[in-house]
Amino acid sequence: MEMASRIPELFGCMVFGDKEMKARLPEEIYTTLRHTIRRGTPLNIDIANPVAEAMKCWAMELGATHFTHWFQPLNGITAEKHDSFIEPGEDGQVIMKFSGKSLVRGEPDASSFPNGGLRATFEARGYTAWDPTSSAFVRDKTLYIPTAFCSFSGEALDAKTPLLRSMECLRRSARRLMSLFGKTGIGTINPTVGAEQEYFLIPQELYDERPDLRLCDRTLFGAPPPKSQALSEHYFGAIKPRVKAFMDELDLELWKLGVMAKTEHNEAAPCQHELAPIFCTTNMACDHNQLTMEMMKRVARKHGLVCILHEKPFFCVNGSGKHNNWSIATSHGINLLEPGDSPADNAQFLLFLTAVIAAVDEYADLLRISVANASNDHRLGANEAPPAILSMFLGDELTEILDCLAEGRPYDKHENSRLDIGVGVLPKFPKDNTDRNRTSPFAFTGNKFEFRMLGSGCSIADANVVLNTIVSEILDRFSDRLETADDFNGEVTAIAQETYRAHKRIVFNGNGYSEEWRQEAARRGLHNYATAAEAIPHLEDPENVAVFEKHGIYTAAELHSRCEIMLDAVAKGIEVEAKTMLEMTERDILPAVLAYTDHLAAGLANKKSLRLPCRAESALAETLCSLSDEIYAAAEALKAEMKKAAALEDMAARARAYSDNVRGAMAALRAVADQAETQTASDYWPYPSYTDILFYR
Ligand code: ADP
Ligand code: MG
Repeated sequence: MEMASRIPELFGCMVFGDKEMKARLPEEIYTTLRHTIRRGTPLNIDIANPVAEAMKCWAMELGATHFTHWFQPLNGITAEKHDSFIEPGEDGQVIMKFSGKSLVRGEPDASSFPNGGLRATFEARGYTAWDPTSSAFVRDKTLYIPTAFCSFSGEALDAKTPLLRSMECLRRSARRLMSLFGKTGIGTINPTVGAEQEYFLIPQELYDERPDLRLCDRTLFGAPPPKSQALSEHYFGAIKPRVKAFMDELDLELWKLGVMAKTEHNEAAPCQHELAPIFCTTNMACDHNQLTMEMMKRVARKHGLVCILHEKPFFCVNGSGKHNNWSIATSHGINLLEPGDSPADNAQFLLFLTAVIAAVDEYADLLRISVANASNDHRLGANEAPPAILSMFLGDELTEILDCLAEGRPYDKHENSRLDIGVGVLPKFPKDNTDRNRTSPFAFTGNKFEFRMLGSGCSIADANVVLNTIVSEILDRFSDRLETADDFNGEVTAIAQETYRAHKRIVFNGNGYSEEWRQEAARRGLHNYATAAEAIPHLEDPENVAVFEKHGIYTAAELHSRCEIMLDAVAKGIEVEAKTMLEMTERDILPAVLAYTDHLAAGLANKKSLRLPCRAESALAETLCSLSDEIYAAAEALKAEMKKAAALEDMAARARAYSDNVRGAMAALRAVADQAETQTASDYWPYPSYTDILFYR
């Protein structure tokens, strides 16, 4: 009871937010800082000094002795290097100091982070720069300063820099279009995001017994349990007390850090859960999602559990994803993807809507690439996550409205109204789109789009960089036309009609898991890149480089480096899994099967000498003998594929070889080993089974 009433006061208590700034900074400094934060403009050092001092005093009151520039290098997670506040004072004493310079800029060595060749061509060292649009916070006696990470010549070496660039770009393009509708004084425009996060929780002692989980965060072996999610009893089911205790603590820790954790529930698979926060500005949402993932892992440990964020930890049960709910809002709280009440508002909504449709269709490959990694390959297209084919769900009603508009048909047959924009007869758009389609990768859900292809473990930055950029591109094309149009309303109608006609093929409201859709999508000419290795090289296709360069998001060199980093991560990730499989096979699995076979053989000999019936032993021993031979052969075959893949010089070819051939050999090895598991006495089997792990108490 007492705790509950304190939550409003505890919320954000570890964050240097607006309340603290206002209370601790001279008014003039506060106003300038607010301006910087709103506009995303650079911060003057004269302002940085007093801000740093105020931050330090605040952080020290919360017990902080250190500060760190917190950044997001290209390995999908976050990095930090801690420095204490101490500086030498007089007479061998120390003082606690934090300068404006230390706040705005840090210089970590960039050489050990992925840079995809940018280091060789430019400089080894990188620098971190404070992102004042995301709040500093205190954790573990340390003041965390969210920063962007670049090379000395300005190339982005992180996930945040391009995200901030893309937000600025969308801000500009949306404002331009809005001003054509006479909308000025609308405040700052920003993309908003709410990222729903799925995860697994399993007992720590079982996790510790499995090298595959410890090293790869997923099981590489494991026969399917007799029961999995077939009975649909876990989804939204009652939450185990142990898990509930975890969720309560997680919520509290996140609230203190200003993360608006809102919804917690059990997901479809056993041991699988979800957390959804309340949406906020994109780069905050991105930082918050990283914090959420880190906090999940930490808090789980305190409850004797391990949080698994891998996209597919268990074969035969659903994997975990992340839903990126995306919209565009003004700082006055107007959602630009909210269907309006008046014809003019509807016209504006229609342009934003058709812009997103065109963007997703034209740059579907970029969206696919933004979620491409080796682990997500296990989900996309596996009848549990959206398919690898991008399509858009609009719902029947909105689709019908757009069809009518494009074909010049009346929408509301009774009133025989025509769909001219600006003449007061545009139908009221359906606001609450409850017609949900869970199989769609990209769904319009009433006043926002939900991009559902993201893997659970990946940063949401890449997907949002792409979304912001491609939507900006289309909005700009619309503005180009509208700025020179003689008949504004006529041009709005023409743009909406032409755009929808040209990009209608991306709209699909049916079952995205079906084989018919796969065939239909191929007929419509939509991309279907089944694996990350296949998708990633298209990042460097000319039209993709062009759109990023045009909007100042990535240079061609930055894109090339990102392509190399992503392909390398595919190859290396699979290599680690293959090596782990071999180690498990040779050191644990084969010895276990052979030992149990020996045990059977000894019993068999005994029984034979006593002339006792021994058909069970005989049959079992025979099965296990052939399985051990097959396991051995499959392991050798895997080694051969690994050798071939590792020898390939070309990065794309190497990633393809790991993705197709090494993974193929891994699947073959797993199949025989899993069969052996079902035939080997559990006392002999070296690892906890799927039943042990997934159905813990
Ligand atoms: P569901 O599971 O049905 O998709 P949830 O309520 O779990 O719905 O998640 C919806 C997510 O969308 C929440 O994180 C919510 O804050 C977010 N969201 C709602 N409106 C917007 C918006 N305008 N922009 C971005 N995200 C939004
Ligand atoms: Mg959702």
